[in-house]
Amino acid sequence: MSGNTSNLRVVESQTLFDVKAAWSTLTEAQRESIGIAAIIQAIGEAGDYSGRGTAFAAAAVEGAGALSDACEAALGDLDELPRPDLAAIDVKACRGCGCTEDAGCAEGCHWVEPDLCSSCSTKVVLLRPPALPLFDLDDLRAGIRALEPIPKTARETSDETQ
Ligand SMILES: [Zn+2]
Ligand SMILES: [Zn+2]
Repeated sequence: MSGNTSNLRVVESQTLFDVKAAWSTLTEAQRESIGIAAIIQAIGEAGDYSGRGTAFAAAAVEGAGALSDACEAALGDLDELPRPDLAAIDVKACRGCGCTEDAGCAEGCHWVEPDLCSSCSTKVVLLRPPALPLFDLDDLRAGIRALEPIPKTARETSDETQ
């Protein structure tokens, strides 16, 4: 029942799971089990957040479990799937790390391009190899010799010659 590989889309070397394409391959029964579980979880979470008690907290937990099971039955091992393309729910995500406006990077970030966050643009800079210093090996050896302590007598001699 898994059509995972046909639903992959490569975006800037990041593979995303095209949820809309995957949904279109699901049977009515699979959609129903996913949808019902999702509604139970959402109502449970909302009620739990509002402090409406045990029944809603339980619905959130049970709905989440049923949702996970239903998705796995329809799509295969969820741990094997790439991260979902959030464009399917009209959410903009960083093309590098996948962070969003409401769920940014742990270290904090901002948009530096419409779809690239500051954490990822920093990483790109750091990944560049350091520029090689322009000197030749003989110059380097001479420089190291110059760092060796000069004996007092030699220093006086060189002072006299200046
Ligand atoms: Zn990022
Ligand atoms: Zn970020």
